[in-house]
Amino acid sequence: MTSSFKEFNFSETISKAIEDVGYETPTAIQAEVIPHILQGSDVIAKAQTGTGKTAAFGLPSLELLSNNPKKTILILTPTRELALQVCSEMVLFSKHMGVLPSCVYGGEALFNQLKRLRRDSRVIVGTPGRLLDLFKSGHLTHFKPETVVLDEADEMLNMGFLEDIREIFSYLPQERQTLLFSATLSKEIRGISSRFLKDPVSCDQTTDERHEDIEQLHYLIPDRQRESALIQLLQYHNPTKAIVFCNTKRQVEDLAEQLKQSGFGTLQLHGDMTQTDRQRSINGFKKAPRKILVATDVAGRGINVTDVTHVINLELPFSPECYTHRIGRTGRMGNKGTAITLVTQKQQYMLKRFLKTKMSNIHLSQLPSPEDVKNIMKKNFTEKLHEEYIHQDAEEILALMKEGNQIEDITLKLISHAWRSKAQPTNRFVVSPSPGESSGGNSRGGRSRNRNFDNNSGSGNRKFRGSRSGSGNGSGSRSRSGNSGYSGKSGYSGKSGSSGSSGNRGRGR
Ligand code: AMP
Repeated sequence: MTSSFKEFNFSETISKAIEDVGYETPTAIQAEVIPHILQGSDVIAKAQTGTGKTAAFGLPSLELLSNNPKKTILILTPTRELALQVCSEMVLFSKHMGVLPSCVYGGEALFNQLKRLRRDSRVIVGTPGRLLDLFKSGHLTHFKPETVVLDEADEMLNMGFLEDIREIFSYLPQERQTLLFSATLSKEIRGISSRFLKDPVSCDQTTDERHEDIEQLHYLIPDRQRESALIQLLQYHNPTKAIVFCNTKRQVEDLAEQLKQSGFGTLQLHGDMTQTDRQRSINGFKKAPRKILVATDVAGRGINVTDVTHVINLELPFSPECYTHRIGRTGRMGNKGTAITLVTQKQQYMLKRFLKTKMSNIHLSQLPSPEDVKNIMKKNFTEKLHEEYIHQDAEEILALMKEGNQIEDITLKLISHAWRSKAQPTNRFVVSPSPGESSGGNSRGGRSRNRNFDNNSGSGNRKFRGSRSGSGNGSGSRSRSGNSGYSGKSGYSGKSGSSGSSGNRGRGR
């Protein structure tokens, strides 16, 4: 396998961009398809999202463009999120070429997109509907792309874009290079390939199909207890970053609210949200250290977050391809991931079809018992304490809290402790005065006396840094840190009887 990008002999501008984004070694799909694309062949590639497929087609097609400045590139994607994602990567890859890729999709004013196209239309990334409108209305009359990419082609077909794609191709030049990327190579995809690609080279990433980096767990749940089962599993598996897939928008809204009320840091994503709100959710999910994103398939398709630890299917999706897509959101770029699916007795046969296996090979786990959940939460909490290296002082605060002391009492105890400690420099809770503050506490009216939980003696104290006004805040921050945004409410098991009534209320995705 190609071990370095140098072996592709990319021009300086592309090499510099690769260096900027920090890629060192080509991924399997990149190693396989880049040489073919550089040679000008059509390519049909089976590749999951998360395998580096955007760079696999983006880098060589831009390389060809850099050799021929008159060349143009068109990339079709099923959703606007994916279009934005792909476009932003193309912007990075073409940064040193003086090219500015443009993104077009439904839901944003045409005026803005036309403005972008007038500025630079050498690389256009877009969704089929909006692109077809632009071709039909004559806004892309002079756009004759020599490279055309169909990204996540199976999803475009699932979403009913076949006719739009056919019509778009009627506007494209006969002489072109066409690249098709798809997570699955169904009969329909092969049909598209034989119609629009010429002698394509097939690249099949079969290892991804096996999802070697993803542990797939299937839990047998009673009918109508999906939400409570989910909460139990979230407590048990304690994901760092999870996407929970629902089949309807209504389910997303109901579930997100329920998880929020149960103390989980939750965001939502579905097709009825405005583009700005969707982007806000995606950004929030990317940046937050711990979050659960509740999403529908359509909205979830463009999410490109490499550190998703868990994907959870609240329900089985509508097709095996969709199942493959969903679970491929975790275990990306060499990370390990866990895919959890909630299955009722009746759905076992559907699961068999999705997993393409015999019934006897399907192992359905039982939900963890409340006792199991309690124990694992305790264990996680203890581990977290060790991980964070909570100072012994924090243990004392915890003890005070456990004793049932009121916050005022704890504050008083801490202040008096700090006050006593002041006389003994080795004692805990004491800080050296910060620069500019006199040790006698007379600067700024002696405020420094109470600024006790600060940075004198090692990392443990960092927990108490913002606690300017005494221990009230200190204890608050303590409890937050242990729970990491997940278990602000302790009584999860008490919530397990929720009805799951939202299941069939909304159909739209
Ligand atoms: P994709 O499959 O295109 O959605 O890519 C998934 C993620 O992998 C993106 O965040 C890319 O920036 C990243 N990526 C792609 N190629 C490489 C590479 N060769 N080395 C490291 N990261 C990569």
